Amino acid sequence: SSVGDVAKVLCVPAGDVVKRLVEAGMMVPAGAPADSAVLEALGVAFGKKLVAASDEQPLAEKNSRPQPKGDNLVERPPIVTVMGHVDHGKTTLLDHIRHTRVADREAGGITQHIGASVVSYNAKRIVFLDTPGHAAFTSMRARGAQVTDIAILVVAADDGVMPQTIEALNHAKAAGVPIIVALNKIDKAGANPDKIRQQLSDQGLVPEEWGGDTIVVEISAKQGIGIDNLLEMILILAEMLELRADPAVEPEGVVVEAELDKGKGPVATVIVRQGTLHRGDIVLTDTTTGRIRAMIDASGNYVDEAGPSMPVELLGLSDVPQPGERFHRVGSEREARGHIADIEELRRRREQENRVKRMTLEELYSQMQQGEVPQLNVVLKCDVQGTAEAIRASLEKLATDEVGISIVHVGVGRISESDVMLAAASNAIIIGFDVRPDANAKKISDSQGVQIRLYRVIYDIIDDVRAALEGMLAPTL
Ligand code: GDP
Repeated sequence: SSVGDVAKVLCVPAGDVVKRLVEAGMMVPAGAPADSAVLEALGVAFGKKLVAASDEQPLAEKNSRPQPKGDNLVERPPIVTVMGHVDHGKTTLLDHIRHTRVADREAGGITQHIGASVVSYNAKRIVFLDTPGHAAFTSMRARGAQVTDIAILVVAADDGVMPQTIEALNHAKAAGVPIIVALNKIDKAGANPDKIRQQLSDQGLVPEEWGGDTIVVEISAKQGIGIDNLLEMILILAEMLELRADPAVEPEGVVVEAELDKGKGPVATVIVRQGTLHRGDIVLTDTTTGRIRAMIDASGNYVDEAGPSMPVELLGLSDVPQPGERFHRVGSEREARGHIADIEELRRRREQENRVKRMTLEELYSQMQQGEVPQLNVVLKCDVQGTAEAIRASLEKLATDEVGISIVHVGVGRISESDVMLAAASNAIIIGFDVRPDANAKKISDSQGVQIRLYRVIYDIIDDVRAALEGMLAPTL
């Protein structure tokens, strides 16, 4: 909705609203989109609580989940990633769930860690990826693989929405992955759940109980309060998402973890996306192959088969693959070797394709020339929050019928590896204002072909983007 729409909601003339915004130091015309900063300012000026409507949920990739193949689609368990700010309780939550809900534990207690856990609740299963946080999530996505169906965003009720909360939220949004908020630490004296609900609303996550469509569950990971409710909400959301797969089609899936084990050789934890993987199958990943010598499930049992959504550790690969590599079954070891011969070539070609495909400001105009309606996705990093919001608003105003502009993420501080991975996964460019990339981010942006543009003057950003839209951008040196 625009600033003008907000005026209607407030039952005041649009001119008044614009004037109040000017008084608040914001030059925003009535036609401009009312972002969270505008809503906040107007909320203060008119003494109302304003939240963005839920249809404002920003971009989500339509292709985030592959269309399942096959005629025998059956329900499959949801695959869940836990995200959130450091120390808000992600690990505690995962540990609690693992210790209380993992079915079928080995006598003696400790189950083997394979990188994912399978939890049973109400006779249904839920798969949790064991590595919390959005770094693994997004680096897998940058490789083109996405396994997460649902993201749990953990927010400590005594601390609230923090920079990494917003980062995680934007990573999940950019991937089109639905979010359930776990308001953690409600046992603590300083917990203020309603204050956090307001902060979440400001980020576009309006709780259901406030008329929005974000599921918010109050929990204490430490004391085990509300965990059943959280699991229940995951299952309800999973049902709404209609997660289906055919166990009978050719098996394929994604590598989520891999390492070289001294005794066992290369081991890889994979999640089967569709079909059923059997011991003895020959699989081919992006970079390696092998006959599956053994499969170990999340409870540490040797198993002969693994169906859709199931995580298993594979033994028998000839090399250690990277997380995010996809695999499928091939007919024979000879066929696999034939593929492997091509793998180096394939990898080189893929890297090159990635390079060409990546969006740059220069690329924008040529796409428009080709009659496409391009989308400029931007990861914006600034020195301070106020500037960030101002630049965001100005950039969003440049969108036209011919080109969409979407700000995938706004953050404060140095450009990090995580920003680059998000940009790579979202085909975005990075704009830095009065910030620089750290050494790692620089290296990865080079190898991933992600464009980073650094500025010290706001008008230069706007000028450059406008020039790019008009095909007048001077080439960078
Ligand atoms: P992570 O960095 O998000 O994985 O956070 P941790 O799970 O390591 O938790 C950080 C700290 O918060 C630890 O000291 C936990 O014991 C504590 N903590 C986590 N959940 C809760 C909770 O529900 N209540 C309280 N009081 N403390 C918690």
